[in-house]
Amino acid sequence: AKAAGGNRYALSDPEADIRAISRHSLTNSLPTALERGEFFIEYQPLVRLSDGSVHGAEALVRWCHPLRGVLGPDQFIPLAENTGLIVPLGRWVLEQAVRQARTWQLEQRDARPVLINVNLSPAQLHHPGLVTDTLQVLREAELEPTALCLEVTESALIGAEEDLLRPLRQLADLGVAIALDDFGTGYSNLANLRRMPLSTLKLDRSFTRGMQHTPADPVDIKIVEGIVSLAHTLDLDVTVEGVETGMQAEHLRVLGCDTAQGWYYARPGPPEQLHSLSLADAT
Ligand code: C2E
Ligand code: CA
Ligand code: CA
Ligand code: CA
Repeated sequence: AKAAGGNRYALSDPEADIRAISRHSLTNSLPTALERGEFFIEYQPLVRLSDGSVHGAEALVRWCHPLRGVLGPDQFIPLAENTGLIVPLGRWVLEQAVRQARTWQLEQRDARPVLINVNLSPAQLHHPGLVTDTLQVLREAELEPTALCLEVTESALIGAEEDLLRPLRQLADLGVAIALDDFGTGYSNLANLRRMPLSTLKLDRSFTRGMQHTPADPVDIKIVEGIVSLAHTLDLDVTVEGVETGMQAEHLRVLGCDTAQGWYYARPGPPEQLHSLSLADAT
């Protein structure tokens, strides 16, 4: 309600002014940041609740700003979306992540393949090069499409027309998994879910919060039970985000969730973290 406004409003609100200037300067330095290699990726493992083994990892981008230090994606992804830089940035993230997944594969030939999850912003979804770019990145890294999962937020797909779903369907037909991210924060309905070429629902962190204590919140239990049963009926896996305690993990396992992600297992970190985690449970 306060941010944009007219000039007059901004002038009467110094803090809003400072925020606007800060956004402006960050926005201006985004393109050179990509050229200068100031972005890097952290990986957060996804763990199978059935046996605690590593299922994959999500790539999460960070910006090592020369003056401000490390910035989280919430501070610059919206700016990159506004300016269109998200398309080359997103492609860079995809390239790095897919290469990293290939490296993991080569490092542990005997273990089950580690999947790599990459976030896709709405602008990337609308970009005509999505399918060919993705396939090219996979081919160059020699990673099979089935090792990649693209995460699309529920809000990006709300009321999506067929045009928007077609590239996702093409990718899905080639074996790329599609996850519906932040599920439960938007307004998807059953009919909508059926139209989408999904393989996974990623349940938003807000649902796992109610599982922090015993007994768990009875309403949250009912909701998660319902979502899991719906998802499994539609042949979708359920991943839960924001698992911070062993208690939560246990509740969610009992409720039938398939995979989990959160600080309880590991914070997002360098790629070696996942390597040691999965080697540890392979023995
Ligand atoms: P997301 O896709 O929902 O990613 C999960 C976020 O939850 C990450 O925040 C992660 O660090 C955080 N998280 C993980 N486990 C826990 C936990 O146990 N407790 C709590 N409180 N938080 C946890 P992060 O890294 O700050 O990323 C924020 C958002 O930025 C992501 O939300 C995603 O929407 C976006 N993002 C990150 N990387 C990319 C990217 O390469 N491209 C695009 N388009 N968006 C990205
Ligand atoms: Ca995500
Ligand atoms: Ca999410
Ligand atoms: Ca989120």
